[in-house]
Amino acid sequence: MRLLGFLVFTTLLACGSKKVVVVKENVKANLEYLASDALEGRNTGTKGIEKAAVFIENYFKKNKVEPYFETYRDTFNIEDIIGYNVVGYIEGNDAQLKNEFVILGAHYDHIGTIKAVNGDSIANGANDDASGTVAVMEWANYFAKTKSNKRSMLFTLYSAEEMGLKGSEHLAKRLKEKGIDLYTMINFEMIGVPRAKNEIMAYMSGYEKSNMAKKLNSYIGSENIGFFPKAKSFNLFMRSDNYPFYNEFKVPAHAISTFDFTNFEYYHHVDDEVDKMDFNHMTQFINTMIPAIEGMVNSASKEIKMNNE
Ligand SMILES: [Zn+2]
Repeated sequence: MRLLGFLVFTTLLACGSKKVVVVKENVKANLEYLASDALEGRNTGTKGIEKAAVFIENYFKKNKVEPYFETYRDTFNIEDIIGYNVVGYIEGNDAQLKNEFVILGAHYDHIGTIKAVNGDSIANGANDDASGTVAVMEWANYFAKTKSNKRSMLFTLYSAEEMGLKGSEHLAKRLKEKGIDLYTMINFEMIGVPRAKNEIMAYMSGYEKSNMAKKLNSYIGSENIGFFPKAKSFNLFMRSDNYPFYNEFKVPAHAISTFDFTNFEYYHHVDDEVDKMDFNHMTQFINTMIPAIEGMVNSASKEIKMNNE
């Protein structure tokens, strides 16, 4: 009886408020597939990454996230290698604001097979960047269910990041040529492992270049995205998939990460695997970011700005 009462109560709650919450089981299942040995480290141009692309396309299709181009794929060449970005689209629900775009992204490629350690040569890239990919997929599903975005949104998963940001460069150029009105872009890199308890949840590259982090924190209602000195000294702003969007559009385009060089020792290592991920942290990160993203896609004016304007 108690169980039944609880079920009725939670169902009503869910229906009444249309609250959609990202659950750990889904985050884990998606990441387990993307970082499985079957995908052979998702190197651009391989059969392994093709499986990843199909998986993301099917996820978009199943969850009613539309393709932005003729298909979900944005195709490009690097010499004789063919790469595919996967691009999902949710049109904004406001007659005016839907002409403006917010892009969320992550790279779904990784480095394939590398020098074996204890017989394992597959670099699974669970943290780098299957974690960011899964986050973007979850948000696409969230906005497809809630339809709570006034601005239009693109959910973009890049290939060939590991070959030098080639996928994001191609897509940013293509969208620039198409003439979209890009408001902001956020790239998510390595969000699979939490920072130390005394550190802020995540940091933003290029923190001081715009007011984006401050605005996102204000939409959340607490300080969750901070400044990280190493991001500045290593110039992470220019070394990740947000940069081509900044370069083309000169609008706020940043990367957010929870990897701070002290909390994960398997960067580009065969042990960047599913069992090293913290799914409670990942799920909490994804849910915490939802009000930040909703604030950004729904603000009446373009209040996130470059600081030099
Ligand atoms: Zn990466």
